[in-house]
Amino acid sequence: MEFTFKTLHQFNDFFKDEKTCYQFLESELWTDGPVCPHCGSMKKPYIVKPRGKFKDIPSYRCSERVCDLPFTVRTNSIFEGSKVELRKWFQAIYEITTSKKGISSMELATRIGVSQKTSWLMNHKIRNMLADTAPELLGENDMVQADETYVGGKNKNRHKNKKIEGSQGRSAADKTPVVGLIEKGGKVMTFVTQNTDADTLNEIINNNVAEGATIVTDAYRSYSTIGNAYHHITVKHENGGYITEQNGHKFHTQNIENFWSQLKRGYVGIYHYMSPKHLHRYCNEFATRYNLRDTSNISRFLHVVRNADIERITYKKLTKG
Ligand SMILES: [Zn+2]
Repeated sequence: MEFTFKTLHQFNDFFKDEKTCYQFLESELWTDGPVCPHCGSMKKPYIVKPRGKFKDIPSYRCSERVCDLPFTVRTNSIFEGSKVELRKWFQAIYEITTSKKGISSMELATRIGVSQKTSWLMNHKIRNMLADTAPELLGENDMVQADETYVGGKNKNRHKNKKIEGSQGRSAADKTPVVGLIEKGGKVMTFVTQNTDADTLNEIINNNVAEGATIVTDAYRSYSTIGNAYHHITVKHENGGYITEQNGHKFHTQNIENFWSQLKRGYVGIYHYMSPKHLHRYCNEFATRYNLRDTSNISRFLHVVRNADIERITYKKLTKG
């Protein structure tokens, strides 16, 4: 199926009805034919003729005798259990992946025509799909900047996210720490953490940065124990310009700081409040937006659709978990 669009109009023309959307999702998720979501069998399933308003939806029943369960391509995907048409889901993915700064649930509800509660859930599920499914080690191509910031909290504490050299940890107040790693010219990764002590930072770095890489940080003391596996450069912020020169090379943490300001602008401008429980989803969304910055709207849309079977989050899990 040839898939291309430049405008919302073309997008809506392409996904003209439910059947088209189902067939499209099948072609993206079942590249070798239908897979039973209950038992994993790829044996050709029986084709079921659904009735009523579902009559155009491609439906199957597993042909394994021990299984014998009905399914569609939506079963076990993040679209399962939702009464919202697939077409509206696709429109929501379009809206979220083509907007530069993110979109609020209220705005999304108006654009695709669902209730705000439904829109909120869709927004969260789609954000989850935006998560990078195959993270790689940073630092194999260029230096990595590591830094932490604090997000959220009440208005009166906003000024407290100003950093104090060597002791940011003390100024967190009611904010949630987020640790970030960014490869210069490459990808960013974010981690919502309980604290920013040396053990936490070291674990994140060891798990995600290639051995032997150059790591640039500020003078926060938790970074002072970065192991010998790395070449650690400390940038002193009081040196004006935030740049440290060593052997003719300039080192800085400007890329990660720029990323934090984007994240915070999004937080203040679009979401107004990010609960600590959901903060990692917002961070993932912003990180993915950044990591896919050079890709087209089409590939961002496809990135989300192809991740649709990674995890099923229910409203219950989102609100109570
Ligand atoms: Zn089965």
